[in-house]
Amino acid sequence: MRRALAVLFVLALAAAAALWIADRPGTVMLAVADLAIEAPLWLAGLALALTLLAVAVLVWLLARLRGWFERRRLAKALRRRDEGDAAVIAALEALAAGDGPGALKNGRKARRLLGDTPLTLLLNGHAARAAGEIEAAERSFRSLAARRDGGATLGHRGLAQLAVERGAEGEAAEAARAALALRPEAGWAQSLAFADSVRRHDWQGALRLLPEARGDAAVGFRRAALLLAAAREETDPIAAQRLEEEAVAAAPGLAPAHAALVRRLRAAGRIRHAERALERGLAAAPHPMLASLALEGTPGEPKVARARRVASLAGHVGGAEMALVAARAALEAELWSEARRWIERARAAGLEDRRLHVVLAELAEREFAGTDRARSEAEAHWRDAASAPAEPAWSCTSCAASQPEWTPACTNCGAVGTLRWGEAAGLAPRFGLPAPIPGL
Ligand SMILES: [Zn+2]
Repeated sequence: MRRALAVLFVLALAAAAALWIADRPGTVMLAVADLAIEAPLWLAGLALALTLLAVAVLVWLLARLRGWFERRRLAKALRRRDEGDAAVIAALEALAAGDGPGALKNGRKARRLLGDTPLTLLLNGHAARAAGEIEAAERSFRSLAARRDGGATLGHRGLAQLAVERGAEGEAAEAARAALALRPEAGWAQSLAFADSVRRHDWQGALRLLPEARGDAAVGFRRAALLLAAAREETDPIAAQRLEEEAVAAAPGLAPAHAALVRRLRAAGRIRHAERALERGLAAAPHPMLASLALEGTPGEPKVARARRVASLAGHVGGAEMALVAARAALEAELWSEARRWIERARAAGLEDRRLHVVLAELAEREFAGTDRARSEAEAHWRDAASAPAEPAWSCTSCAASQPEWTPACTNCGAVGTLRWGEAAGLAPRFGLPAPIPGL
């Protein structure tokens, strides 16, 4: 409607202009070289209007033609994209079905149709890997890792995955660190870089990769294990002590952390501090390692004095392990009834393993030395000891292997801070690269 009004308005304006020109007689002269054309004003006006109209029609026609070509080009591009998308999904389906060659065929088709986009590079990397064409996979992942328009971390991830599969741990860690520079929160990269730092004994580097414990006991144990490993290699005793104190704070339930600190303080001659640290350790982590530190005492200490000191500590901190050590100290000091009392306290506190029967046998042998009673009672206790459960050991919560001594990393599987005293090992999930999309 508005358009029709505009056309009518323009026509009316043209008619008025024509009438206005017709009312005014005049001529237009056009002279080019020798040629001279003379025309009345109205005819010249008409010729000008017709020329303008012809130009307008020509421009309109050209615009239509260009639009048609553009639409054709777009339709073709859309068709290519649709075909490319279909090839992408077909490649993903083949990957999920474990059909490597099928995935690679469709992946290459997608790349031909869509070009080298981050998606087609990622897809071709995984498809080539699934088809066993490792070099082609590496090329695709490398190109993806070099992209600046997205997907670079996925390229590094693919390279890490290939490196893990061929056992090149160093290369996997390198790819992981490159990914961490772009995405510090990437869990898979943290795990790979962490394992590499531990392998290279770069304890501080490993600690930087570990999240804060924030009440998570497992993380606390890992931190403490790394701190103790760092302390063992630290040559400056003050710095080593600081690391051990940090370890105690990170995992108060880890007896080796307390033991390391107690030994450090004793070596520095800070006996009172050492004894307080030992008491705190025994209360938080009652372990034979700490109980035997209590037994050590100072050189030349009389046996009876030692028995009294250990008994006082055992009475203070309680627990089966300290009761057993108090029994040993009493036995050494030939305080038989005292030893018997502490053995009963150890039993009442839940101690049932071989060590209880061994100390009872030794007590019988020494208290009634040379008598028939010594022989018969000791024999009975040795028999009980043979059938009693073995004393608890350190076992790894990651691989369930048991170890006679605590080490920062499991000697069987290399996991850090996973050794627990006497705990039935529950298998924790091992590290692996989770699939970004099912099938990859
Ligand atoms: Zn293990």
